Amino acid sequence: MDEFDLIHRHFVPLAEGFPGSLNLRDDAALVDIPAGQQLVITKDAITAGVHFLGDEDAALIAKKLLRVNLSDLAAKGAQPLCYFLALMLPETTSETWVARFASGLAEDQKIFSLALAGGDTTATRGPLALSLTALGTVPTGRMLLRSGARAGDALYVSGQLGDAALSHWRLLPQPRLALGRALLEQNLAHACMDISDGLVQDLGHICTASGVGAAIEAGRVPCKADLETALTAGDDYELLFSASPDADETIAALAAELGTPLTRIGAITAEGNVTVRDASGDPITFKRGGYRHFGQKP
Ligand code: ADP
Ligand code: MG
Repeated sequence: MDEFDLIHRHFVPLAEGFPGSLNLRDDAALVDIPAGQQLVITKDAITAGVHFLGDEDAALIAKKLLRVNLSDLAAKGAQPLCYFLALMLPETTSETWVARFASGLAEDQKIFSLALAGGDTTATRGPLALSLTALGTVPTGRMLLRSGARAGDALYVSGQLGDAALSHWRLLPQPRLALGRALLEQNLAHACMDISDGLVQDLGHICTASGVGAAIEAGRVPCKADLETALTAGDDYELLFSASPDADETIAALAAELGTPLTRIGAITAEGNVTVRDASGDPITFKRGGYRHFGQKP
């Protein structure tokens, strides 16, 4: 497989229609940013044998790679703009695999309104490795941060937790772009992030960034899975955000408008770490904290 043929056949079509890509025929992309907007940039890399097994459908791998990045844009209230792709392909990779991978991207590009703007393709003697960088925009100064949570805030989560762990990879994340955008536009979220490594661990990041603690009421956590899976397994790509307790009705209205469940699961506290409490207010502890990228197999 010739690298340039491969790019031309499978990736140039994904860049057409996005002027900044220069149809992947130049050394670099040239992307306009609308006046009054800032770029939000996020990157995720995945490796066969670590994040996925390697024998999954290439279209599914492509969509998952794109969607985990879009989930980060969603968590920041950003509107997707374009993305960059790096493929480290083992010599044994077939062109059929690449075609299938590109077809997955093509489908999701339409759904999420963004295009490919550039990338790199190399061979590797190691396992298949893929990396994607997604760019989005927010009005200047308005990106949702992890650091804005205040004591007394109510804590909300979108959707349902633990489903991904139950379905392992067959379930594609649904990046909550409309929700993130609405939280930004309506000035609702004080702090926001997406849950990739489990609610408890990720909420810990909001608490550290904001200098606060948090208390989760176990009975309120929306899940089909058992509580420990829902709170620690990760890969949910739901949004976790804190908001003024006065905003509860507005948030309920937003949930109805978007058709996305938004559940109040607890509150931000002035001090302490993240605690999970049962119906009688007693703390619950778990064997594992959350997903760690080193020392775990898929
Ligand atoms: P250079 O050697 O100048 O860095 P390359 O030969 O690596 O450029 O790539 C040529 C063009 O093809 C560039 O515009 C680059 O962004 C694009 N490109 C290469 N691989 C990919 C890929 N996997 N996906 C998208 N664009 C790619
Ligand atoms: Mg060059």
